[in-house]
Order: sequence, then C-alpha cells, then structure tokens
Amino acid sequence: MYRGRFAPSPTGPLHAGSLVAALASWLDARAQRGRWLVRIEDVDGPRCPPGTDEVILGQLAALGLVPDEPPVWQSRRDTHYQAALDRLVAAGDAYGCACTRAEIAAAYERMVGPRPRHGELVYPGTCRAGTHGRPARAWRLRVQGRVDWQDRRLGVQSQDLAAEVGDFVLKRADGLWAYQLAVVVDDAEQGITDVVRGEDLADNTPRQIALQRALSLPTPRYLHTPLVLAADGHKLSKQNGAAAIDLTDPAARLREAAARLGLPPLPDAATPADTLAAAVTAWAAGG
Ligand code: GLU
Repeated sequence: MYRGRFAPSPTGPLHAGSLVAALASWLDARAQRGRWLVRIEDVDGPRCPPGTDEVILGQLAALGLVPDEPPVWQSRRDTHYQAALDRLVAAGDAYGCACTRAEIAAAYERMVGPRPRHGELVYPGTCRAGTHGRPARAWRLRVQGRVDWQDRRLGVQSQDLAAEVGDFVLKRADGLWAYQLAVVVDDAEQGITDVVRGEDLADNTPRQIALQRALSLPTPRYLHTPLVLAADGHKLSKQNGAAAIDLTDPAARLREAAARLGLPPLPDAATPADTLAAAVTAWAAGG
C-alpha cells in the first residue's frame, strides 16, 4: 500500500515553493490510492519559531490538504533517533568525532588542498580510528564508495559518497539530531513507500540510502519535483523573501502550484476540493 508524506521544517509558514512539494506528494498519494501523512520536522528547535507548525497545518487544511493520520513531530522522537544511533555505533558503522569545525577545515586543506569557497567540506576522516582520548562532540556515519539510485523524474543518479561527502553527521556537536538520521528513521517507521519532495533535496538522497542500508531499512521510491525559483534565480525560500501563501483564494494557489508541476491548466473551480479533484486526474494521466 502506497504511503507518502509531506515533511515541512516549521522554520516559517508555507510559501509558493513548499506548497509545490506539499501538493505533489498529496497528488501522488491520491493518484495511487495511497495514504498521505504530514511530519513536522522540528529537530532543529532553535530555527523553528513556536506556533509555526500549527500555522502550516492550518494552511494545509485551508487548501484541502488534510493528512490521513495524525501528524508526527520529530521533536518528540528523540528516543527513536538515539536507538538508531546506538545500533550504528554498536555495529561499528557510526563513530564519535572530536573535531571542531576549524580542525576539519585545516585537515581538509592539508589533505586535499584549498577548500571550496562555497559548498560542503568533505570530512577527511580524522576520527575514523578513534578520538585519541578527546571527548566526542558529534557522531558520524562511516561511508564507503558510491551510491547509485533512481529518481522517477530525474532518472538514474549516482554519487561517490566517500569522495564527495565523506563520513557525515548523525548527531551534531550541539546535541541536535541531523536531518539525515531523523528522516531515515521516520520514513521507515511510518512505512513510507514513496518520498516526493523538492529537487533541492535530491543530493541528500544518497546519504539517506547509505543510512537505510546501514540500518537494514527499506529504500522508498523517490520523486524530486521542480523547484520554484525566486527572481534572483535561487530556490525560493524565506531567506530570499518568499512570502507566506495568500489564502484568500486557496483554489487559485492550488492552480498555480499545479502549473509549476507541469500539469495542464486546471478549470477555474471555485473550491479547493474541486481543484484538487481535477489535479489528481491530470497527475494520474501524466504519471
Ligand atoms: N524537512 C525538509 C525540508 O523542509 C524536507 C524533508 C524531506 O522531505 O525529506 O526541507
């Protein structure tokens, strides 16, 4: 049975970009007669203003996007993430890391050369064989080689995790759970068969697949949807001024989001429910 989800981080209200991801995941679940869940990804508490989760759930409800099961909050699932980390450490797949950011940068420069001006630093593996008595600050997954995977829209994808990412963080030095661990534990526990989300997350997928394999969890199917770009050409986000969606005409917002997903123009239905029904038909025809 198909089980999909929309997993917003409640750092701000839904905007035109996040609505596209929400709608795509809802349409795909409905077109495949599956269930659609909402998970509030509030692991990074300091970045989530209080009440934003309820704002998002209210926006979704106004658009007719109502989850089939009660929402799940990641901030309440600490023991599940700790259990997964404990398993990985016991199996030797995760290890404690004592490095500070400055040390990682210095080690990277010694081993690889000048670090990129933008983009992630590949962890050079300093603590792979132990921290030499220094206390662990963060916990990392030991990665190897390349991950090949298939996206329903982007086709065959491949990333050399070891060379391009390195051993990545599961639990941060500030004690917060990393998105990668929380999302993998929760997708598995909620029985998610299909992940439908924005293309900006596609390059996280190999890390999540590596983690699924280390935890012996199934890998869902993936569909990464086109991004909505701001005037500056970057992904639409709160940082470049994405406004909360204006819900005075929810059906119009749904028609706009559907157009961004490449669906043919939908009739000017008055209600969100009619608009969604037309959109499911169009999505099913296109898929
Ligand atoms: N919480 C993530 C975000 O809002 C999405 C996670 C996901 O869909 O896997 O960017």
